[in-house]
Amino acid sequence: MKPGASPKEMARVLKTIKSRGLRTDTMFGEFQNVIGIIGDEKKIDLEFLRSLAGVQEVITIQVPYRLVSRSYISRDIVVKVGGVEIGGDHPPVFIAGPCSIESCEQLHRIGRKVKEAGAQMLRGGAYKPRTSIHSFQGLGVAGLKHLKEVGQDLSMPTVTEVRSEFDVKSVAKFADVLQIGARNMYNQDLLEACAKTKKPILFKRGFSAQIDEYLSFAERIAAHGNKQILLCERGITPLGGSFKPATRFTLDLNAVPLLKKETPFPVITDPSHGTGRRDLVIPMSKASIACGAHGLMIEVHDRPDEALSDAAQALEPQDLARLIKECGEVYRAISR
Ligand code: PEP
Ligand code: MN
Repeated sequence: MKPGASPKEMARVLKTIKSRGLRTDTMFGEFQNVIGIIGDEKKIDLEFLRSLAGVQEVITIQVPYRLVSRSYISRDIVVKVGGVEIGGDHPPVFIAGPCSIESCEQLHRIGRKVKEAGAQMLRGGAYKPRTSIHSFQGLGVAGLKHLKEVGQDLSMPTVTEVRSEFDVKSVAKFADVLQIGARNMYNQDLLEACAKTKKPILFKRGFSAQIDEYLSFAERIAAHGNKQILLCERGITPLGGSFKPATRFTLDLNAVPLLKKETPFPVITDPSHGTGRRDLVIPMSKASIACGAHGLMIEVHDRPDEALSDAAQALEPQDLARLIKECGEVYRAISR
């Protein structure tokens, strides 16, 4: 819209778009407002839109993801969770905790230690996506209650995965950030249900998803009015072929500067799943910060040998303290 466009002119444009069965998303700017059109653009005559009073320009964004593209939102988005701010020029945020919540006592013990080590947010899975039905599947609602209790005790915002559309309400009731896991990146209904809670969403990249595919699914979250999205690179793996990686997944650090260039959202990495190996987590964390990650998600266990899931990649709390200290040094070096 033109900088001086009146509310009446704006209303007319919105009404015109909606009358064609399309939805809108409005970005209110300091100088001018931008209206995003959601849906099949063939339903509307762009020349007609251009002719309406108050319209400055009608632009078609060439990439399949639009609402999450820099062409639509040019300024960095900072996601605020409790007192923690992630994105933009804020220093890196560390999200840490066990892969799975195993008991209230376990989460409390580990939570206290990750906080002492310098982590700002607490993670822990209550609904675990597992390959085998014979593995630990998570404590479900009981785990969510422990997460809320420990998060409140330690004054740490919490993150946990929503594995199914059916659990969205209960997870949103107990946790501050909803995590959509790599295996669910393509689950449109889950994305939509999570978006509608208006809670911040930690959205993981699927392990064989191309970047434009990943962003096209992030678009679905934004299209439901939720722009509190944390993008998370968590490692990729080839779909077929004979190439056998030496590690569980390959942390794709190209994705960090690329996603930052394409979108305004905070980008974090998960070197725990990205490597699957405790000894590689610190170097890949530092590399993530060096290439511009806004934060890290790290799995920590104080008794890794007893961990009910992902034992091989769990750092001990003292290693997390070292990770945070060394990442701080890298951050200060690159931001000078
Ligand atoms: C997790 O964070 O515990 C997890 C299962 O992650 P991903 O979806 O990346 O495998
Ligand atoms: Mn895990």
